[in-house]
Amino acid sequence: MRKILVVGAGQSGLQLALGLQQHGYEVTLMSNRTADEIRSGRVMSTQCMFHTALQHERDLQLNFWESQAPKIEGLGVSVAGPESQRVVDWVGKLDGHAQSVDQRVKMAGWMETFAQRGGQLVIHGAAVSDLDYFSRTYDLVLVSAGKGELVSMFERDASRSPYTEPQRALAVAYVHGLGPRPEHPEFDAVRCNLVPGVGELFIMPTYTVSGRADILFWEGVPGGPLDVFRGVKDPSEHLALTLELMERFTPWEYARATNVELTDAGGTLSGRYAPTVRNPIGRLPGGGSVLGVADVVVANDPITGQGSNSASKCAAAYLAAIVEHGDKPFDDDWMRATFDRYWATAQHVTKWTNAMLAPPPEHVLNLIGAAGQLPPVADRFANGFNDPADFENFFFDPDKANAYLASVSG
Ligand SMILES: Cc1cc2nc3c(=O)[nH]c(=O)nc-3n(C[C@H](O)[C@H](O)[C@H](O)COP(=O)(O)OP(=O)(O)OC[C@H]3O[C@@H](n4cnc5c(N)ncnc54)[C@H](O)[C@@H]3O)c2cc1C
Repeated sequence: MRKILVVGAGQSGLQLALGLQQHGYEVTLMSNRTADEIRSGRVMSTQCMFHTALQHERDLQLNFWESQAPKIEGLGVSVAGPESQRVVDWVGKLDGHAQSVDQRVKMAGWMETFAQRGGQLVIHGAAVSDLDYFSRTYDLVLVSAGKGELVSMFERDASRSPYTEPQRALAVAYVHGLGPRPEHPEFDAVRCNLVPGVGELFIMPTYTVSGRADILFWEGVPGGPLDVFRGVKDPSEHLALTLELMERFTPWEYARATNVELTDAGGTLSGRYAPTVRNPIGRLPGGGSVLGVADVVVANDPITGQGSNSASKCAAAYLAAIVEHGDKPFDDDWMRATFDRYWATAQHVTKWTNAMLAPPPEHVLNLIGAAGQLPPVADRFANGFNDPADFENFFFDPDKANAYLASVSG
């Protein structure tokens, strides 16, 4: 039986470990935290996942929380004008629903399932020296440890990483008590509020440790008026600041947030990171190779809510590549080809996400504005979050955008 080590128990590592286990591999999963520590710890993401990524979980029968988590059926966009009024406001319908299950719930639950099914779970923060040893005792070592220290083994790919600095300051608060969206309250939706030159406020329903809740997520341009969460340690101060900024920049969202309270003491998160694509093969001091997974190799800014989706897609692509490879050695050529298989989808996510971090060109402003009058445009934009490859067809190139708008308006 082939022996595989998975380092890091997040979306990609757990999905891979559970998938490999189902295929009869002898899997060891190394996590720097126990399931209980994860469950009772701090939130890690907003983790909104769209249809394709959710389907990979269903394919492995890992959709344990699908019936409890709110079904997100739409994606709305508002743009704030100079007087903090809404100059654009629409909601597109998703073909398949999206869901956000708090990673504290999901990762803790999946980790326990992995152990109950006989998987070897090791609680240990792996260091490069550990991996040096394990690369000799396992057929394959997969590093799915997110944006932590182990990324130092994977060289940054400058040709695929246009930014060297973080492009947004992130601040998340999980709350109970948010009022319904005034428009179409009959279905749940992600709300993307764009405040030109300042940043974005995302609001979405989630399923957390205390049941249904909503997430208030500010993405601030560094150095701007939203970049004020650094050093805020007290969760209630974090929430007060979040609400203050909502009142100032997105009063229509503040109006339904006046009675909110934090879900729990771990319900806030702030930080920032530079979007980075890396060489997928990590070189160990002893000469061995390890394969990087998901955020380790492609870490995009969460502005487009793609990281967990990409982690699910990466895990699905790697699982198929491992199974198809049978008993052959997992050499560097295979690692490169396996990453390329993932990059076929990840490249579109990366291009679109990096574009959304920059000030929008005129043809993009036109598209976003036109979606208010043309529901098919709103729907197509919303469904691009599930399959960002579609943006190639109508979003980046002004001629294609204009031709598309002409075809829909006609
Ligand atoms: C504020 C914010 C909002 C986001 N919103 C969304 C969203 O709405 N939609 C979306 O799709 N994505 C979103 N993302 C991105 C998404 O959360 C990540 O891209 C995704 O979780 C990456 O999965 P992963 O498996 O690569 O890594 P992770 O989920 O980061 O998991 C890595 C795991 O490895 C562990 N680990 C680290 N170092 C070691 C070590 N040395 N040894 C052992 N274990 C280790 C960590 O503790 C962690 O459990 C968001 C991210 C942030 C920060």
